[in-house]
Amino acid sequence: MARLSARERPERERRLTPVREVCPGCGGRMRVRYDNCRNLVTLSGMVRLRLRIRRCEAPDCPRFHLPYRPEAEGALALPQHEFGLDVIALVGLLRHRDHRSVPEIHAALRGRGVEIAERSVTNLLDRYDELLASALTGGRHLRRVLKAQGGVILALDGLQPDVGHEVLWVLRDCLSGAVLLARSLLSSRSEDLVPLLEEAKAAVGVPVLGVIGDGQTSIRRAVAEALPGVPHQLCHFHFLREAAHPVFEADRTAKKELKKRVRGVRRIERSVEGAEEPAAEVARGYCAAVRSAITDDGRPPLAASGLKLKARLAAVADSLDRVAEKGGSRRR
Ligand SMILES: [Zn+2]
Repeated sequence: MARLSARERPERERRLTPVREVCPGCGGRMRVRYDNCRNLVTLSGMVRLRLRIRRCEAPDCPRFHLPYRPEAEGALALPQHEFGLDVIALVGLLRHRDHRSVPEIHAALRGRGVEIAERSVTNLLDRYDELLASALTGGRHLRRVLKAQGGVILALDGLQPDVGHEVLWVLRDCLSGAVLLARSLLSSRSEDLVPLLEEAKAAVGVPVLGVIGDGQTSIRRAVAEALPGVPHQLCHFHFLREAAHPVFEADRTAKKELKKRVRGVRRIERSVEGAEEPAAEVARGYCAAVRSAITDDGRPPLAASGLKLKARLAAVADSLDRVAEKGGSRRR
């Protein structure tokens, strides 16, 4: 059944580029050839992902023209999923740790601003259970895929929807996009991650060509121990995400506050609608400037949209002050 209400347009766009440039098939260079877009519902709002896709163009390469997607994509969402992995992790946590019912989980998600139908909660719960029951054990098809591609590029991500609670660790293959293993752990110490990596390594049955992940010490150590000699490439996306998260949250709150202050623009717009005197024309111009400032977004985390909005509103306010001054001197 189609959704009754259309989803709001995503507030943010996030551009992801594959870290790896070297083709896993032939060792040549893969160039970015096109973009893919997908919208994602996450715990921090709706996001539009703009994914830059690389591919190898050597005609005799076994990976000729096969897309290589940004490694970080799988840290945010499962393939062909509308909801982010963070939402799935939270659903699992609420169910298995807090023993909440589907309607209760639904209410909790709505409370955190996630637009979701109750039926989708059931689907996400199934997805969570499938994820943990996981992939590799039953997947003959997956094994065939991995064998055909001759190796895997592992990515390891920890999702922690509630600070201080379990972490959902997801191990996936960046070449096929498949989830290899997922476990919910109470800790993120390297001792606990080593067995996960070893389990995945044993189960894939093909060489691990590389690992992609963030710079967390526990992950670095675990990779060095479980997969000695395998190159571990750090993903700047992960770095940025970790570093920028508090800034991003603060900026988002500030932006919300700023928006509240200029809510009155609608009333002013209405009052000058259709009026023809020059003053009304000027007022409409200012309203339009405020409107465009509200809808214009920065590119988090490097360009904070809250700060940008503040600068633009300040420019409008300054201009209004100048007009008031001039107008005041001319008035008799
Ligand atoms: Zn190649």
